[in-house]
Amino acid sequence: GYVARSAFKIQKQHKLIKAGSSVLDLGCAPGAWLQVACQSLGPPNHGGSVLGIDLKKVKVPPLHCDSRVKTISADVMTLPSHQLRALSPQQKGFSVILSDMCPLVSGITTKDAALSVELGMRALDLAVGRRAAFSVYADGDDNQEGEQSHDAETGVLQVGGNLLIKLLESEDAKEISQISKPLFRKSSWLRPKATRPSSREIYLICLVYKSIVPHKDI
Ligand code: SAM
Repeated sequence: GYVARSAFKIQKQHKLIKAGSSVLDLGCAPGAWLQVACQSLGPPNHGGSVLGIDLKKVKVPPLHCDSRVKTISADVMTLPSHQLRALSPQQKGFSVILSDMCPLVSGITTKDAALSVELGMRALDLAVGRRAAFSVYADGDDNQEGEQSHDAETGVLQVGGNLLIKLLESEDAKEISQISKPLFRKSSWLRPKATRPSSREIYLICLVYKSIVPHKDI
């Protein structure tokens, strides 16, 4: 089995997923979080759903999952948010978004950290929308023309929802946390007990999405 103890531990401590949640699991292969998510939905008559996405194909059905769990193979970096919304229950978005995505580690610390931030930033964009993420990020910055063409993309995280993003520790990773802060009731770092001493994996846990920050141009 590939049960990830850290996934169970994080869920146990922070109760990200509740009975009836609609979960989006980015970077879901081989499927430890799928299992944790499925079990956290409660018995099948409580409803709920899990959509897992990964570049890699996941064994069907994923281990220890019931029919509420579906997976697709896709590249999260290029998958448009409207397609994700179309895949959500009643097209209403998701109440929980998990990103356990990580790049193929090259061993070059700065390169790995940069790729990790790109994946993490993508997860945040998909959750809260590019405009929301950017309006916080660019606060007080007038040089934003280049970004405005992207900001039609709206997020797929429901108001009140929770977001978890795995990152490799870096200065840029801290920026993702800064962006998330005003958008959620609580946003904090969780450092799991490292399995390897060299591991710099940290989780950003964002609880209770407050909805988008009004942009000054709207
Ligand atoms: N969450 C998984 C679990 O609980 O079993 C473990 C995920 S593993 C640490 C990281 C995953 O991120 C890999 O399976 C990799 O294929 C995926 N990944 C990396 N970049 C991705 C991308 N652009 N789109 C989709 N998946 C990606």
